[in-house]
Amino acid sequence: MKSRYEVFVSKDSFKFNAAHFIAYRGFRERLHGHNYRVSVRIEGPVGADGYVVDFGDIKRAARDVCSRLNERVLVPMRSDVVSIDVREAQVSMVCEDGTRFSFPQADCVLLDIVHSSAEELAAFVCLQLRDALPVLGERHVVTLEVGVAEAPNQEARYRIDL
Ligand code: ZN
Repeated sequence: MKSRYEVFVSKDSFKFNAAHFIAYRGFRERLHGHNYRVSVRIEGPVGADGYVVDFGDIKRAARDVCSRLNERVLVPMRSDVVSIDVREAQVSMVCEDGTRFSFPQADCVLLDIVHSSAEELAAFVCLQLRDALPVLGERHVVTLEVGVAEAPNQEARYRIDL
């Protein structure tokens, strides 16, 4: 019989408040904010110590990622419709409709994503956690899944097989 266990962690501290707008060809949201919540689900075998992974490791890594995003403007550096320029510690964004935003770089987080949607944020957080947690490989974890909720009961999930 092949079996695997699952751990799920969603703490009050897994949150970040951030400003963003979604933009794609022919459309742009107004700048607005969310109180994002993050959750982490991990599947794998139980080790000799009775754990899949230590909850403490997951909590530390998830809080680190959240704190890097907290109280920032989320800037999707790979946007195909917003031209983004970073110079002299200022981030300028020019949208398809000519709208211009400019923020201090310290108030922004530059993300390697195309859109700051919950889906792409979930993927970003998931890959950050994978890189921050070599213990996942050491413990033969098979699945890492991250949920990012923009609001209660409005959540996107991204999952990778390790
Ligand atoms: Zn939004």
